[in-house]
Amino acid sequence: MQPRPPSSAIVVGSGIIGAACAYFLAKRGISVRLLDASAPAAEATGAADGAVSVASKRPGPMMSAALEGVRLYGQLADEGLLAGAFKRRSTFIIAASDDECTVLASHSAALESAGVKVETLSGDRLRQAFPVLSNQARMAVEVHGEGHAIGYQIVHRLLTASGITVDRDTRVEGLRLDRSGQRVTGIDTNRGRLAADVFLVAAGSGSASLLGLSQVLTPRKGQLLVTERAPALNAAMPGAIMSGRYLLSKGSQKAGYSPPPRGLGLVIDPLVTGQFLIGGTREDFGDRRTNDIEAVSRILCDAVELVPGLASVRLLRSFAGVRTAVIDGLPLVGRVPGLENAFVATGFEGDGICLGPITGQSIVQLICGEKPSIDLSFFDPARFGSYGAAA
Ligand SMILES: Cc1cc2nc3c(=O)[nH]c(=O)nc-3n(C[C@H](O)[C@H](O)[C@H](O)COP(=O)(O)OP(=O)(O)OC[C@H]3O[C@@H](n4cnc5c(N)ncnc54)[C@H](O)[C@@H]3O)c2cc1C
Repeated sequence: MQPRPPSSAIVVGSGIIGAACAYFLAKRGISVRLLDASAPAAEATGAADGAVSVASKRPGPMMSAALEGVRLYGQLADEGLLAGAFKRRSTFIIAASDDECTVLASHSAALESAGVKVETLSGDRLRQAFPVLSNQARMAVEVHGEGHAIGYQIVHRLLTASGITVDRDTRVEGLRLDRSGQRVTGIDTNRGRLAADVFLVAAGSGSASLLGLSQVLTPRKGQLLVTERAPALNAAMPGAIMSGRYLLSKGSQKAGYSPPPRGLGLVIDPLVTGQFLIGGTREDFGDRRTNDIEAVSRILCDAVELVPGLASVRLLRSFAGVRTAVIDGLPLVGRVPGLENAFVATGFEGDGICLGPITGQSIVQLICGEKPSIDLSFFDPARFGSYGAAA
């Protein structure tokens, strides 16, 4: 029997995942309360790059989800909701060494086998297509049909369109279960207890303590840089640059290649503002919030080696954020094991901006008893057994 859609929902966390879930719930006329321990986009969503991209993926569930994620961004931009907030562009994966050329050639074949439109450029064709690249660039694969979105702008659009006001500074401390232990009756917050028909935890790394997931979720720090505006250089870049090394740092390559110790993979994104967003690191250690001079200078050196024109562009700011990763590399999206009216959507590591809207749409379809737009079975939270979710 088709479950009846709930009439009320509480969403915990107003990053891009919580905001997208709230948007798609509200669109169905479900009364939504969106709570955040801090403020909208206060964590990873406000400290991300924003590639809406399949370029670094291998064929599999994440690639399939990302393809749908990119498609939905395009649709929502065409419909007006994300118009001007989703910039369509290609991603150019650049190889600068023999190793990177080898990895890139097999990666390109894998992308093509999944139906992604790619084009290999080298020699004069590469110089013509991308004149600002240095001679370090030996070969590039252009991944067509990708884009970029700023996480906090997407959150703002979703919340404004659905008329949802976030309950700020409202920290959820635990879930209250009924006598059977299978149904959530309410949640405890620092401002008191709240009730609803369904509960959705989209609290990023905060989901760990709420659902007993500390053995499953792991933080992964990233450092990013933003430059001043440089309109001429920006206009001369036909898309974003991703270094071949980024594939290694993200673990997207085949088994046999070990990621470099700190995971420094260069990404240069020409923003609509005329600025450049340059990243970044993947770090499983260290202070989670700060930048360090070693990372900043290595990112800048790598960027200038590949695009020498950046040497005369000033750095405006550096920042750091924490991606929430799952130990098996796939997010957790679905029903909380053992609880009939509680759902979780977290653990998107470096893909949550890309997957935000499609995850919101899909989990709301699941909640309403419909077939989700993406196959959520790979992301089923039950694969780690039952959790200790209770107040
Ligand atoms: C450096 C960096 C670069 C990235 N680049 C990209 C990229 O190019 N493309 C891409 O797709 N993704 C990228 N990401 C990943 C992306 O930012 C995340 O996957 C995504 O933002 C996760 O969103 P979220 O809503 O799950 O979590 P978050 O944005 O972390 O939001 C969780 C929210 O929950 C709230 N919260 C936590 N605990 C509680 C509680 N107990 N009660 C109430 N509220 C609570 C927090 O205050 C926060 O606002 C990057 C991330 C980083 C750090």
